[in-house]
Amino acid sequence: MINKIKKQGLRLTPQRLAILELLEGNTTHPSAEEIYHQLKLRYPSLSLTTVYNNLEMLTKAGELQEIRIKSEKRRFDPNPVPHGHFLCRICDSLSDLDAGTLEIRAPSKYRDYLVENYTVYYYGICPVCLARGNKRKIE
Ligand SMILES: [Zn+2]
Ligand SMILES: [Zn+2]
Repeated sequence: MINKIKKQGLRLTPQRLAILELLEGNTTHPSAEEIYHQLKLRYPSLSLTTVYNNLEMLTKAGELQEIRIKSEKRRFDPNPVPHGHFLCRICDSLSDLDAGTLEIRAPSKYRDYLVENYTVYYYGICPVCLARGNKRKIE
């Protein structure tokens, strides 16, 4: 990821590097606020605006994927390749879920269209919450 960024000529500021390190291999799809709170311990001068700007820039550069499954909470994924996501309505966790049954993949040519991206959102109850049998909320 880091080498790719250097190739694109993006400057690797300490904050940008810290965001990338935090996200590398991270499958929890953290929000900008969560990323900010985790980095704030190591970079006390860091502002939420800086985190937002960097996330936006990295998303534009194709290094991250922004997930707008909930409009009030944007979340980020270090995997820029299109894939499905599952949002648990009980614990708010967001996990990768790809059924692999989509007829149209991206990027691909489909009929006369060049499909560059797609978004698939699933909603429901995650395995952890199901196992906990949080029945009051489930029913
Ligand atoms: Zn859950
Ligand atoms: Zn994902």
